[in-house]
Amino acid sequence: MHEDIAAIRDDFPILSRSVGDEQLVYLDNAATTQTPEQVYDVFEEFYAGYNANVHRGIHTLSHEASVAYEEAHDRLAEFIGASGGREELIFTKNTTESINLVAYGVGLNELGPGDNVVTTEMEHHASLVTWQQVAKRTGADVRFIRVDDDGKLDLEHAAELIDNDTQLMSIVHVSNVLGTVNPVEELTELAHEQDALVFIDGAQAVPNRRVDVEEIDADFYAFSGHKMAGPTGVGCLYGKHHLLESMEPFLYGGEMIRHVTYEDSTWNRPPWKFEAGTPPIAEGIALAAAADYLDDVGMDFVEERENELAQYALERLTERDDVEVYGPPLGEARSGLVAFNLDGVHGHDLSALLDERGIAVRAGDHCTQPLHDRLDIPGSVRASFYVYNTTDEIDQLLDALDVARDELD
Ligand code: PLP
Repeated sequence: MHEDIAAIRDDFPILSRSVGDEQLVYLDNAATTQTPEQVYDVFEEFYAGYNANVHRGIHTLSHEASVAYEEAHDRLAEFIGASGGREELIFTKNTTESINLVAYGVGLNELGPGDNVVTTEMEHHASLVTWQQVAKRTGADVRFIRVDDDGKLDLEHAAELIDNDTQLMSIVHVSNVLGTVNPVEELTELAHEQDALVFIDGAQAVPNRRVDVEEIDADFYAFSGHKMAGPTGVGCLYGKHHLLESMEPFLYGGEMIRHVTYEDSTWNRPPWKFEAGTPPIAEGIALAAAADYLDDVGMDFVEERENELAQYALERLTERDDVEVYGPPLGEARSGLVAFNLDGVHGHDLSALLDERGIAVRAGDHCTQPLHDRLDIPGSVRASFYVYNTTDEIDQLLDALDVARDELD
């Protein structure tokens, strides 16, 4: 094992636990990554040192918590290249809530009959279902950019779909099933030519590549903490400042207001306007520590490592004639995941057999039922990697497939 990887693995004590009698092989990182000590130590520091509610108190603990929480927004903004700092970075619960925030703030208020939202056939339910429901309530249409047989978006089709009536384009940056890295800059340009707003679901991108929302020129960009070595319970929504200023709030309540009378209320400035009630304080501060951690490891290194692992897994899987693999072919860029099916073996049975050997993968539709329909399969097994995984772990997965063939076929 490369010595950098050994050192990185040491930061994640969970990786040395066993499952039954077997050493854990954690290949379910697209669902949730593991968390290093540098991140979860923040919880102890917070709860033992300065646990208090933010914004409301003038006592020392509240002041310390407020400063750390506000600075965490700046840190995450910086991590994705948002020069507006905290005013452009909202803490939400997760990517799903970030999408809903835009759906409520923009979708339900701005869309109407005759308008359309352009999205893709490879969306996660978090965005697909949300836009579907917004369309139902507003009378707008949802249009889907086709996915070709290599798991890539058909850009000519995109250009046909995006028209004068497109109010919003919502696309996934990196597919959680195909591993495809979509050309988000090119698509954003197309949408902006028609004055459409652009929302990007970056849940699978921010964890494993350097994302610069300003280079992309995204209007909104969402991601989750728990997929980037951070804690659960916190995610982010980036929005261009002028858009956040003019948008309707999503949730009403304390802290998001400026002034309240019995008759009416006015709103605080972004991001607080969108963070009603007590926010995920410790989680937000810990997420900033995750950004520090990933920058220390180096995002270029993370991306390179993920690509290496994905190519290795792909190479080994495609050598077999009893495996069908989905997504871009060997040699083409993809993020660190591979979804596949083993002939004659149900994904859930395979996943259970792998678990007996300590190997964690995910089987099912991965919250992309329409994409699985499009691929004409009921489900798939997904092995997904993070910077701490090794080719040896992939070999163990492959060896277990042989056992599965013998035992389950
Ligand atoms: N979008 C994509 C591409 C995802 O992979 C996921 C989670 O798997 C989500 C959205 C939803 O993320 P969360 O469950 O953290 O809201």
